[in-house]
Amino acid sequence: MKAWQANIRTVTPYVPGEQPKGGNLIKLNTNENPYPPSPLVKKAIDEMDYDTFRKYPDPSSTVLTKALCEYYQMEEDEIFVGVGSDDVIAMSFLTFFNSEKPVLFPDVSYSFYQVWAELFHIPFETPVLNEHFLIRKEDYYKENGGIIFPNPNAPTGVFMPLSEVEDIIAHNQESVVIVDEAYIDFGGESAAGLIKKYENLLVVQTFSKSRSMAGMRIGFAMGNKELIRALNDVKYSYNSYTMNMPAQVLGAEAVKDDCYFRQTVEKIITTREKAKERLSELGFVFPDSMTNFIFASHKEKKAEDIYLALREKQIFVRYFKQPRLDNYLRITIGTDEEMEKLYDFLEKFL
Ligand SMILES: *Cc1c(COP(=O)(O)O)cnc(C)c1O
Repeated sequence: MKAWQANIRTVTPYVPGEQPKGGNLIKLNTNENPYPPSPLVKKAIDEMDYDTFRKYPDPSSTVLTKALCEYYQMEEDEIFVGVGSDDVIAMSFLTFFNSEKPVLFPDVSYSFYQVWAELFHIPFETPVLNEHFLIRKEDYYKENGGIIFPNPNAPTGVFMPLSEVEDIIAHNQESVVIVDEAYIDFGGESAAGLIKKYENLLVVQTFSKSRSMAGMRIGFAMGNKELIRALNDVKYSYNSYTMNMPAQVLGAEAVKDDCYFRQTVEKIITTREKAKERLSELGFVFPDSMTNFIFASHKEKKAEDIYLALREKQIFVRYFKQPRLDNYLRITIGTDEEMEKLYDFLEKFL
């Protein structure tokens, strides 16, 4: 080995879901929204002046922050925006998790948490979910250097009642508790209302799922202004211009169209409830989902075989080849037409 090779940081990266190329495929593998973004977003792109790209974007993303403040009834110094919630959460790990004590997050949960912990050399412990895939709040009542969990959890889809989320926050007022609400708009209850009560709470959300803008990379955190200031200090020590101008402008437009947002989210919820019925009839079992996906296992057929057969037919779902998850499929809720094609195929195959 050469000397410089010994200095290379070695990490095991997060593996994103496949982005297959070509038309005529049904993509139910990365929890994207099957509907386009708001028409206001289209209008704003059509009217955008490309000459403005000469200039650096607003480093504090004011138009977007203002739109979010109005929508969520927060102050401007209580919101931090970033390049997808992955950026916001990575920045939060760097900012808030600086203890010798371990950070706690569930096993099973969003697999990126462990990747960031390893990248930033943050010690961590991962309490296991119970046999029904539920987070046991008592597992988070011990000494720690910070806590993060998704609610609803991913990839299980299970929502933890707000009273239990609050119990975890209340028991941990010495550390920062991050609630990753990537899927909260699909029926759960947000912890954002607790921000005034707990200064150690950070709530993170994204435009990638409920707001149909995964490709624009927009995420944000809401919390006490001291937490937000600390996040900004780290951001400005790293890269001032993280969010590009179109993302700022188009994100603000999306937030303004509440009517469209509610309609599309409602459609997905209706399709999901129907999917629960159909998948049960087809012999699948799954924890009750409050997200835009269902984490399902079949009573007889192996998940991997179903995954491969679907793939053959250009229907993509997510399969995790890892212990405890390897007999499950994570199926994103698509349009009704896409879901019908899925059921049709499964009916024949099973
Ligand atoms: C999708 C997802 C994210 C990341 O979303 P981006 O905003 O697209 O970076 C974060 N956490 C969870 C649990 C997710 O499912």
